Amino acid sequence: MKPLIAPLVALSLLAGEACAEPANEIRISSAGSQPSARGPEEYFTGSVRVDGLFKGDLPARVGGGTVTFEPGARTAWHTHPLGQTLIVTAGVGYVQQEGGPRQEIRPGDVVWIPPHTRHWHGATATNGMTHIAIAEAENGTTVTWMDKVSDAQYGGETP
Ligand code: MN
Repeated sequence: MKPLIAPLVALSLLAGEACAEPANEIRISSAGSQPSARGPEEYFTGSVRVDGLFKGDLPARVGGGTVTFEPGARTAWHTHPLGQTLIVTAGVGYVQQEGGPRQEIRPGDVVWIPPHTRHWHGATATNGMTHIAIAEAENGTTVTWMDKVSDAQYGGETP
């Protein structure tokens, strides 16, 4: 047993956790324990900030985070294997599925995106938008990224 403990502690320290907690105990990830991250340029257009990433322990498959889009910022086109829920917490934004209209979303709106549905979400051109995003993983994957949303698509010209 003993030789196993030291590497485990070292790994948990590398992961930024104070100590290894048993899997059957409540875990609180304190505010500020995880730095804000920038949404990668290959998957997002404009300035996007990701906070509070979370992931359940197996066999749970749920995970997500809080995503903040500056005006004009949006995701690339993408799909989720088991769908996604968005809970809008601030600002004004858009969500659009391929072939459908660009729809406005506001704080308190809850959006369900069905599995394998090509879509994007983001802020409006004039207002930022923040949502909590929740998705379940299939084979460890929650999202498949595709091409960027063009300015014409973002502008609602080509649904
Ligand atoms: Mn999505």
